[in-house]
Formats: sequence, C-alpha cells, structure tokens
Amino acid sequence: MTAQPRAGDAVAVNVGLGERAYDVAIGRGLLGSLGARIARLRPGSKAAIVTDTNVARHHLAAAEASLRAAGVESASVSVPAGESTKSFAMLERVCDSLLAARVERGDVVVALGGGVVGDLAGFAASIVRRGVDYVQVPTSLLAQVDSSVGGKTAINSSHGKNLIGAFYQPVLVLADTALLDTLPEREFRAGYGEVVKYGMLGDFAFFEWLEANWRQVFAGASARGDPPAPREYAVLRSVQAKADIVARDERETGERMLLNLGHTFGHAFEAAAGYSDRLLHGEAIGLGMALAFEFSARRGLLPMQEAERAIRHLKAVGLPVRPQEISGGPPDAAALMDLIAQDKKVKRGSLTFILVRGIGEAFVERGVDASAVRAFLDEKLAPA
Ligand code: NAD
Repeated sequence: MTAQPRAGDAVAVNVGLGERAYDVAIGRGLLGSLGARIARLRPGSKAAIVTDTNVARHHLAAAEASLRAAGVESASVSVPAGESTKSFAMLERVCDSLLAARVERGDVVVALGGGVVGDLAGFAASIVRRGVDYVQVPTSLLAQVDSSVGGKTAINSSHGKNLIGAFYQPVLVLADTALLDTLPEREFRAGYGEVVKYGMLGDFAFFEWLEANWRQVFAGASARGDPPAPREYAVLRSVQAKADIVARDERETGERMLLNLGHTFGHAFEAAAGYSDRLLHGEAIGLGMALAFEFSARRGLLPMQEAERAIRHLKAVGLPVRPQEISGGPPDAAALMDLIAQDKKVKRGSLTFILVRGIGEAFVERGVDASAVRAFLDEKLAPA
C-alpha cells in the first residue's frame, strides 16, 4: 500500500509516458508554487489561464499572483461554468482569446478549473498554433483524481459527449487539495464516485481503506485548520492508479477501458437527465457502478453479498444507487437502451460492458446480450 503522506506534504506521481512523461504534484497549498514551477519547466514563457466564472471568483487572483511573483507574464479568459461550455462556440472563444493574448509556441496554457475547463482548455491547447504546452490545475475532486491526468481532451457534439477531441498530455498537473475547500459538497461527493471507482475496479485494499476513512476524506480542514491527510492520501492513491493504467495503455485499446466501470449505465442515465443538475457526472458513475455490481452478481460472477457491500458504501456516502433517486424520476428503459447503444455500439445485439468478479476485480466483457440488459433495466426501473 502507498505510504500515507504526512499532513502538509507535497508528493509527486510521475505519469510514465517516455518523452511525454509528466508529474502530478499533490498537496495542500501548492497553488502558490505554480509560477515558480512554470518558470522552471519553460523558462521565459508566458502563461494564459483558462478558468470558469465560479473558480475565477475563488482562485484566479492567487494563481495570477503566483505567476507574477515568479516573473511569468499572464493573461486570462473566463468561461461560463457548466457542461454546456464544452462546445464549439466556447472552443472558438478560448482559441481566439489565446491568440489575442499572443500565446505562441513555447508559452503555456493553464487550465484552472474542474473537468469542464480541463477538457476544453486542453483541447484548445492541442490545436492553437498546432499545439502549445498546457498545465492542469484541477480544482474539483473529480478533476484532481481523474480528468486532469491522462491527456483526454474534448468538447461535446449534438451527437453526444466528448465526441470531438484529442489525446494531448499536459506538461504538469498541480493538484492543490486546499482548492477543494470551496467546492460545493455535492460536487465533492460526485468526485468521490471516481475515487471509489479505483478501489472497485482494481484495488480491494483501497476500497477497504475508503470504507474505514471516507468521513475524514470528506471532512476537509478541521476547525483548527489542520490539513486533512486522508484527503491527500485518497487523491494520491487515485492518481497513482490512473497514472499506472495510462502509462500502460495511453490510447485506451485495452486496460484503460477498465476506468469506464459504471460508465455504460452511467452515461446513459446522465444523457437521459440532459447533462443537468438532475444528475451530476460522478453521481451517474456511482449509480452506474451500483448497477454494474448487481448486474454482475445476477450473472453469477460474484456473490450477491459482495455486490451489496460495494453498493452499501456508495449509499453510505450519499451517492445514488437506484434510478428512482434521480431527481425528476428515472427515464424509461427503451430510452436508456437507445442511449446505451449509442455509447457503446451494439454489435448484432450484443454490448461491451465493464463487469466485476469481485470488489477490485473488474474486467471487459464483450458480447453481453442486449436483451439481458433490457430485462435488468426493466426490473430496476419498476416502481418500488
Ligand atoms: P465541472 O468542471 O463542471 O466542475 C463542477 C462545478 O464545480 C462547476 O460549477 C465548477 O465551476 C465548480 N468548481 C470547480 N472547482 C471549484 C472550486 N474549487 N470551488 C468552487 N467551485 C468549483 O465538472 P467536473 O465534475 O470537475 O468535471 C466533469 C467533466 O469532466 C465532464 O465534462 C466529464 O466529461 C469530464 N471528464 C473528463 C475526463 C477525462 O479523462 N478527460 C474524465 C472524467 C470526466
């Protein structure tokens, strides 16, 4: 098991991708080192910060101050918060702003925000002047443990989520856990869905640790202002898991698919809820994982008690585990099946799913019978 960092420590995980390798620095209060780190990494470069209106209110001034203190000239562009910002219109606006700020090859784009800003700014960086470097400064739990690491960048299309994008790795990720103190609790909980995913897909010991320590992970800074080491540990362990998988399978041809545990069901529920506040991405993944565990148990892949243990934990932290918990009510099974078919192309009536043989033992199952999925959903969607 990874050693637990002492409170206040900064630790680094390396994403081992050869000449595109980079560090993910994790710790409380790291934002102040942003400028010095960029100056060291790309001496003489300018920086252009992309952020959203919520994050700008809390953290833009500190990011700018850090750059200024290190002598790094900077500009910033702020986009509206929310999923609808991952659009062509906003991509155009960000690219234009970067060019207006005279960002050149050798300069650095800084994505200061959650997964939406990270995906949008990363994609903009990949295409402006045929590619400029970018640094991820993730400010949501989901972005710190998942979207900022691994180089997937994208915007959405009317045909679906994340359909236009590029694999484009950052040169540095700076995960300052103190930034999470301003994150709304519901967003924190949704991000926790991705944390527990790492335990559920491949690390039973981490799952057990989360069962015992999740309250401290949620707690944040204590009244005395002590840094909460369990939170840093949860971020570190998650990033380590993601970095290991990405280093072995950058382009998702095999093992990286396991990171999609809960996503086939989850994406369908998220789309059916209109990518809205009715169901946040991480909540949809929590629900999707609960269903993936139960569906696996029904297929005899693991004992039902073990699936129930996984579901009990999701429920304990307050993530939805039944479709009936979606605000405004669950979608109907036919609509969900259409969405599942779009998400993971049906081949002659069969689907690809990430299923489990136990907690921490996910695997890719091809050829899952669509009619079995439909029967399962019909049952789960029936009024209790
Ligand atoms: P988000 O970026 O919309 O952030 C959630 C909300 O929290 C927003 O309103 C944001 O303004 C606010 N916020 C963020 N940090 C804050 C802070 N420190 N203080 C106060 N408010 C703050 O959503 P998200 O959950 O971070 O990311 C979801 C997105 O990530 C989705 O678009 C999803 O597709 C994408 N994603 C990408 C990958 C990848 O590998 N690239 C992986 C998982 C998810």
